[in-house]
Amino acid sequence: MLRVACASANPHKVAEIIDLMGGVVDLVPRPQDLADVVEDADTLLGNARLKAVAVCAATQLPALADDTGLEVDALDGAPGVITARFAGEGVTDSQNRQKMLLELDGKDAAHRSARFRTVALLRFVDGREIVAHGVCEGSIALYEIGDRGFGYDALFIPADGDGRTFAQMTIEEKHELSHRGRAFRALAQML
Ligand code: IMP
Repeated sequence: MLRVACASANPHKVAEIIDLMGGVVDLVPRPQDLADVVEDADTLLGNARLKAVAVCAATQLPALADDTGLEVDALDGAPGVITARFAGEGVTDSQNRQKMLLELDGKDAAHRSARFRTVALLRFVDGREIVAHGVCEGSIALYEIGDRGFGYDALFIPADGDGRTFAQMTIEEKHELSHRGRAFRALAQML
Protein backbone atom coordinates (compact mmCIF):
# COMPACT_ATOMS: atom_id res chain seq x y z
CA MET A 1 0.00 0.00 0.00
CA LEU A 2 1.17 3.54 -0.76
CA ARG A 3 2.51 5.25 2.38
CA VAL A 4 0.83 8.65 2.74
CA ALA A 5 0.99 11.39 5.41
CA CYS A 6 -2.30 12.84 6.62
CA ALA A 7 -2.14 16.63 6.23
CA SER A 8 -5.06 17.46 8.53
CA ALA A 9 -4.45 18.66 12.09
CA ASN A 10 -8.15 18.46 13.05
CA PRO A 11 -8.63 15.22 15.05
CA HIS A 12 -12.28 14.88 13.97
CA LYS A 13 -11.32 15.11 10.31
CA VAL A 14 -8.34 12.79 10.80
CA ALA A 15 -10.65 10.14 12.29
CA GLU A 16 -12.98 10.44 9.28
CA ILE A 17 -10.10 10.32 6.79
CA ILE A 18 -8.65 7.19 8.45
CA ASP A 19 -12.11 5.58 8.25
CA LEU A 20 -12.49 6.46 4.58
CA MET A 21 -8.93 5.91 3.32
CA GLY A 22 -7.35 3.52 5.84
CA GLY A 23 -7.99 0.51 3.60
CA VAL A 24 -6.69 2.24 0.48
CA VAL A 25 -3.40 3.85 1.62
CA ASP A 26 -1.05 3.34 4.57
CA LEU A 27 -1.81 6.57 6.46
CA VAL A 28 0.77 8.05 8.83
CA PRO A 29 -0.07 10.99 11.11
CA ARG A 30 0.94 14.59 10.47
CA PRO A 31 4.20 15.40 12.34
CA GLN A 32 3.20 16.79 15.75
CA ASP A 33 5.88 19.48 15.75
CA LEU A 34 4.82 20.93 12.40
CA ALA A 35 3.36 24.43 12.81
CA ASP A 36 -0.27 24.99 11.80
CA VAL A 37 -0.59 26.05 8.18
CA VAL A 38 -2.19 29.47 7.63
CA GLU A 39 -5.13 28.69 5.34
CA ASP A 40 -5.29 32.01 3.52
CA ALA A 41 -5.89 30.88 -0.06
CA ASP A 42 -9.09 32.10 -1.68
CA THR A 43 -10.30 28.66 -2.79
CA LEU A 44 -10.84 25.28 -1.10
CA LEU A 45 -8.34 23.72 -3.51
CA GLY A 46 -5.78 26.40 -2.66
CA ASN A 47 -6.14 25.74 1.07
CA ALA A 48 -5.95 21.96 0.64
CA ARG A 49 -2.80 22.48 -1.42
CA LEU A 50 -1.19 24.72 1.25
CA LYS A 51 -1.68 21.96 3.84
CA ALA A 52 -0.46 19.19 1.52
CA VAL A 53 2.64 21.09 0.37
CA ALA A 54 3.72 21.74 3.99
CA VAL A 55 3.24 18.11 5.04
CA CYS A 56 4.89 16.76 1.87
CA ALA A 57 7.95 18.92 2.51
CA ALA A 58 8.13 17.94 6.19
CA THR A 59 7.71 14.19 5.70
CA GLN A 60 9.04 13.61 2.17
CA LEU A 61 5.93 11.45 1.72
CA PRO A 62 2.87 12.00 -0.45
CA ALA A 63 0.34 14.00 1.59
CA LEU A 64 -3.44 13.69 1.76
CA ALA A 65 -5.34 16.90 2.49
CA ASP A 66 -8.90 18.12 2.38
CA ASP A 67 -10.61 21.45 2.71
CA THR A 68 -14.31 21.94 3.25
CA GLY A 69 -16.68 24.86 2.91
CA LEU A 70 -20.35 25.36 3.77
CA GLU A 71 -22.33 27.40 1.23
CA VAL A 72 -25.66 28.85 2.37
CA ASP A 73 -27.93 30.14 -0.40
CA ALA A 74 -29.64 32.77 1.79
CA LEU A 75 -26.15 34.16 2.52
CA ASP A 76 -25.18 34.26 -1.18
CA GLY A 77 -22.93 31.21 -0.78
CA ALA A 78 -21.18 32.36 2.41
CA PRO A 79 -19.29 31.34 4.47
CA GLY A 80 -17.62 29.16 1.76
CA VAL A 81 -13.86 29.32 1.98
CA ILE A 82 -14.01 31.12 5.37
CA THR A 83 -16.30 28.51 6.98
CA ALA A 84 -13.79 27.78 9.78
CA ARG A 85 -13.62 31.44 10.81
CA PHE A 86 -17.21 32.48 10.06
CA ALA A 87 -17.61 34.01 13.54
CA GLY A 88 -14.03 35.37 13.61
CA GLU A 89 -10.42 34.25 14.00
CA GLY A 90 -9.78 31.53 16.58
CA VAL A 91 -13.45 30.86 17.32
CA THR A 92 -14.95 27.56 18.46
CA ASP A 93 -17.26 25.33 16.40
CA SER A 94 -20.05 26.31 18.79
CA GLN A 95 -19.50 30.03 18.12
CA ASN A 96 -19.64 29.37 14.38
CA ARG A 97 -22.93 27.48 14.78
CA GLN A 98 -24.42 30.29 16.88
CA LYS A 99 -23.41 32.85 14.25
CA MET A 100 -25.05 30.72 11.55
CA LEU A 101 -28.31 30.51 13.52
CA LEU A 102 -28.26 34.29 14.05
CA GLU A 103 -27.61 35.03 10.38
CA LEU A 104 -30.57 32.83 9.37
CA ASP A 105 -32.89 34.06 12.13
CA GLY A 106 -36.41 34.51 10.76
CA LYS A 107 -35.82 32.32 7.67
CA ASP A 108 -38.16 29.35 7.48
CA ALA A 109 -37.09 25.81 6.52
CA ALA A 110 -37.73 26.48 2.83
CA HIS A 111 -35.14 29.28 2.82
CA ARG A 112 -32.26 27.54 4.56
CA SER A 113 -30.81 25.49 1.70
CA ALA A 114 -27.06 24.89 1.84
CA ARG A 115 -24.33 22.51 0.76
CA PHE A 116 -21.04 21.20 2.05
CA ARG A 117 -18.28 21.10 -0.53
CA THR A 118 -15.02 19.19 0.00
CA VAL A 119 -11.88 19.15 -2.09
CA ALA A 120 -9.67 16.12 -1.41
CA LEU A 121 -6.10 16.29 -2.64
CA LEU A 122 -3.25 13.79 -2.79
CA ARG A 123 0.02 15.56 -3.51
CA PHE A 124 3.23 13.71 -4.35
CA VAL A 125 6.71 14.91 -3.43
CA ASP A 126 7.44 15.72 -7.10
CA GLY A 127 4.44 18.07 -7.25
CA ARG A 128 2.00 15.76 -9.05
CA GLU A 129 -1.54 15.94 -7.65
CA ILE A 130 -4.76 13.95 -7.71
CA VAL A 131 -7.84 16.04 -6.89
CA ALA A 132 -11.41 14.92 -6.16
CA HIS A 133 -14.56 16.80 -5.19
CA GLY A 134 -17.53 15.91 -3.02
CA VAL A 135 -20.75 17.86 -2.54
CA CYS A 136 -23.58 17.22 -0.09
CA GLU A 137 -26.78 19.21 -0.60
CA GLY A 138 -28.96 19.94 2.41
CA SER A 139 -30.28 22.63 4.69
CA ILE A 140 -29.50 24.41 7.93
CA ALA A 141 -31.66 23.26 10.87
CA LEU A 142 -33.68 25.78 12.91
CA TYR A 143 -31.68 24.86 16.02
CA GLU A 144 -28.86 22.49 16.97
CA ILE A 145 -29.86 18.82 17.01
CA GLY A 146 -27.65 15.87 17.92
CA ASP A 147 -24.44 15.43 19.85
CA ARG A 148 -22.20 13.48 17.49
CA GLY A 149 -19.76 14.83 14.91
CA PHE A 150 -18.10 18.24 14.89
CA GLY A 151 -18.17 21.63 13.21
CA TYR A 152 -21.59 22.41 11.78
CA ASP A 153 -22.85 18.80 11.99
CA ALA A 154 -25.56 19.64 14.54
CA LEU A 155 -27.01 22.17 12.08
CA PHE A 156 -26.74 20.32 8.78
CA ILE A 157 -29.60 18.17 7.45
CA PRO A 158 -28.48 16.33 4.29
CA ALA A 159 -31.12 16.35 1.54
CA ASP A 160 -30.65 12.64 0.77
CA GLY A 161 -31.15 11.60 4.39
CA ASP A 162 -34.22 11.06 6.56
CA GLY A 163 -34.43 14.51 8.15
CA ARG A 164 -31.78 13.95 10.82
CA THR A 165 -28.72 16.19 11.11
CA PHE A 166 -25.24 14.72 10.64
CA ALA A 167 -24.83 15.00 14.42
CA GLN A 168 -27.68 12.51 14.90
CA MET A 169 -26.13 9.92 12.59
CA THR A 170 -23.60 7.16 13.13
CA ILE A 171 -20.29 7.81 11.43
CA GLU A 172 -21.14 5.16 8.81
CA GLU A 173 -24.42 6.94 8.00
CA LYS A 174 -22.60 10.27 7.73
CA HIS A 175 -19.89 8.85 5.43
CA GLU A 176 -22.55 7.41 3.12
CA LEU A 177 -24.02 10.87 2.43
CA SER A 178 -21.31 13.36 3.29
CA HIS A 179 -19.20 15.67 1.16
CA ARG A 180 -16.03 14.10 2.67
CA GLY A 181 -17.25 10.55 2.04
CA ARG A 182 -18.03 11.40 -1.58
CA ALA A 183 -14.73 13.24 -2.16
CA PHE A 184 -12.51 10.51 -0.68
CA ARG A 185 -14.40 7.67 -2.36
CA ALA A 186 -13.84 9.48 -5.67
CA LEU A 187 -10.16 9.98 -4.85
CA ALA A 188 -9.77 6.32 -3.91
CA GLN A 189 -11.16 5.34 -7.31
CA MET A 190 -8.51 7.45 -9.05
CA LEU A 191 -5.64 5.67 -7.27
P1 IMP B 1 -11.59 22.73 7.22
O1 IMP B 1 -11.81 21.91 6.02
O2 IMP B 1 -10.92 21.96 8.32
O3 IMP B 1 -10.88 24.02 6.90
O4 IMP B 1 -13.01 23.06 7.82
C1 IMP B 1 -13.70 24.26 7.51
C2 IMP B 1 -14.85 24.43 8.46
O5 IMP B 1 -15.89 23.52 8.13
C3 IMP B 1 -14.56 24.20 9.95
O6 IMP B 1 -15.34 25.12 10.69
C4 IMP B 1 -15.04 22.80 10.21
O7 IMP B 1 -15.46 22.62 11.55
C5 IMP B 1 -16.21 22.71 9.25
N1 IMP B 1 -16.37 21.35 8.76
C6 IMP B 1 -15.50 20.66 7.97
N2 IMP B 1 -15.98 19.44 7.72
C7 IMP B 1 -17.16 19.33 8.38
C8 IMP B 1 -18.10 18.28 8.51
O8 IMP B 1 -17.95 17.17 8.00
N3 IMP B 1 -19.20 18.55 9.26
C9 IMP B 1 -19.41 19.76 9.86
N4 IMP B 1 -18.55 20.77 9.78
C10 IMP B 1 -17.42 20.56 9.04
